[in-house]
Amino acid sequence: MSEKTLPLLIGYGEDAHRLGEGLELWLGGVRIESDRGAVAHSDGDVLLHALSDALLSAFALGDIGSYFPDHDPRWRGLESRVILELVLKKVREKGYRPAQVAAVVVLDRPRLGPHRAQIQQNLARLVGLPEERVGLTFKTSEGLAPEHVQCRAVVHLEPLPGH
Ligand SMILES: [Zn+2]
Repeated sequence: MSEKTLPLLIGYGEDAHRLGEGLELWLGGVRIESDRGAVAHSDGDVLLHALSDALLSAFALGDIGSYFPDHDPRWRGLESRVILELVLKKVREKGYRPAQVAAVVVLDRPRLGPHRAQIQQNLARLVGLPEERVGLTFKTSEGLAPEHVQCRAVVHLEPLPGH
């Protein structure tokens, strides 16, 4: 029997939410101190949403909107960590695991630099990677989208050992 090795895969995802006064701001599963937060059906964590979509895209499995439709009251207030966990389960079922994550978050304020270590640490834990395989880039929109928080994420996937 010939041993057929699964190919390396990449996935890409994007997400954006409007910012509103007095709402919570979550990024990578970390609550960020801010007077404004994402207007969303869930906790509006753009980093976890873009990453979850990236993981699904690697297998042409659709997007998180198709699994967690925002008109469904069951998913109101849903923690995005739960979305990511479900998506990672699908990835494992396909015989894969994340090997590297790179994400760009665009937000004018608050500045995210001081939160980098905490977000990177938490995201690495959630996806099961060492921190040096979780690259985070923080940008401002230079005033082009001051009312939004946005994220773009790329993920590189490798076959699970034995696949
Ligand atoms: Zn989202």
